[in-house]
Amino acid sequence: MVEARGVHKVFGHGAEGLHVLRGVDLAVPRGSVTVILGPSGSGKSTLLRCLNELEQITAGSVHVDGELLGYREDAQGVLHRLHPTRIAAQRSRIGMVFQRFHLFGHLTALENVMEAPVQVRGLSKRAARTRALELLDRVGLTDRVEHYPAQLSGGQQQRVAIARALAMDPELMLFDEPTSALDPELVGEVLTVMQDLAASGMTMVVVTHEIGFAREVADHVVFMDDGAIVEQGPPAEVLDRPSEPRLQEFLAHVL
Ligand code: ATP
Ligand code: MG
Repeated sequence: MVEARGVHKVFGHGAEGLHVLRGVDLAVPRGSVTVILGPSGSGKSTLLRCLNELEQITAGSVHVDGELLGYREDAQGVLHRLHPTRIAAQRSRIGMVFQRFHLFGHLTALENVMEAPVQVRGLSKRAARTRALELLDRVGLTDRVEHYPAQLSGGQQQRVAIARALAMDPELMLFDEPTSALDPELVGEVLTVMQDLAASGMTMVVVTHEIGFAREVADHVVFMDDGAIVEQGPPAEVLDRPSEPRLQEFLAHVL
């Protein structure tokens, strides 16, 4: 489903350049859940943003469902940057949920979820509304659809953000620390929605420090440090029998 090969990302140029991703290889099979762990600054968000073309990679390649992101390869093997409308179309197949919910403050929960299908896909308001109500029901917010973000708790806002991402029918969902801005008592309701989504077969890549979620839901756990994947495997191996000293130290701090 997702195939990242030799991904490098450098911010800036020359001697000033900051080499943030240093050759990342990652394979995410369809219907699987990958959890990415790692210390602050290790490149987790940058990697997610590269999978979603929010950042252009410096070297390497990312394929989603066999399709190269951002480029077309000609018969000579030369890469040509795709037109921005093609890139936007590729990106619309990938949903992303951020630490801060980024909802539109002047729109209700329902309108937030309807916005992209109507504006980007050209769906009728009626069809978008029906689908948005279904999605808000799925995230447990049937009784909050007419509320504005400021009238919702952080956990409720994040569930609206998840419904909003799902409204574009993504094939892949990326989550960047979706619960780390929440009060502790609100974390569980968001993780439950994510767990249900995983059980429904969604392909997911989740940056989180919620080790319990990684243990229960992830098929694959990846530990990043200093722009590289230093250890990866099934949760029982990576979390319970880490071989890398840096991962052992990291787990000792988050557990
Ligand atoms: P955290 O756990 O704190 O979210 P992270 O693992 O997500 O950390 P990134 O946000 O990917 O780390 O950042 C990795 C490095 O890249 C950091 O040194 C950061 O300062 C740098 N960086 C990220 N975005 C940019 C940018 N747009 N321009 C320059 N440097 C950047
Ligand atoms: Mg980050």
